[in-house]
Amino acid sequence: MIGWKKGLKIACIDLDAHHGNGVQDAFYADNRVLKISLHESGKTLYPWSGFETEIGEGAGTGYNINIPLPQGTDDETYLYAFSEIVPPVMEAFAPDITIGVFGADTHHTDPLTHLNMSNHSLCRAVNTIAELSPKVLALGAGGYNVYNSARTWSLLWATLNKLEPEDAFLGAVGGMMYGPEAESGSLEKDPLICTSGTIKDTTHKEVVRVVDSIKGSVFPLWGI
Ligand SMILES: [Zn+2]
Repeated sequence: MIGWKKGLKIACIDLDAHHGNGVQDAFYADNRVLKISLHESGKTLYPWSGFETEIGEGAGTGYNINIPLPQGTDDETYLYAFSEIVPPVMEAFAPDITIGVFGADTHHTDPLTHLNMSNHSLCRAVNTIAELSPKVLALGAGGYNVYNSARTWSLLWATLNKLEPEDAFLGAVGGMMYGPEAESGSLEKDPLICTSGTIKDTTHKEVVRVVDSIKGSVFPLWGI
């Protein structure tokens, strides 16, 4: 590719709720790019792809990792999947730069998606990505609840710059706020969502299955 510095290793960590099919297709047989996507399962969300069996081909085998999440996945299960897969593979790949696709549409209030997550787990994931890569190029990607997407991206920007919001409420710009924005002015992280009951049991069990599948198919290729 024109302009590609020889030996430059790029990780693309895609946390948007939709599978990153375009980047997957572009680099499916390429070992210069490590692509990891965590997203709502293609069984229930566009673009209907991104299953754990799609692990790249040819020289790119093992460089494409998909972690599909069932509807209702909460923060606790999400962070389990992220921490089991992303840090060990990033450490093995040792990227020169990471392109972070930090969609805010994983939020439980997003009208298009069906995950049960706060912005707290996204902040933790982004913090870990920043610790594992010398440089991060952060992209906002999707987010369809305008107010919570703005909050989430503000928090992620703060996380990347190692800043913590000082005040619980920073949103009263210009006076009173009405409507949904009145409840989303705070830049504090939401509480971590840890559910229980049948949905928790079935979503967690499915995610454990996906994680174990990736550990079986991809980890040996990385010697981990
Ligand atoms: Zn999306």
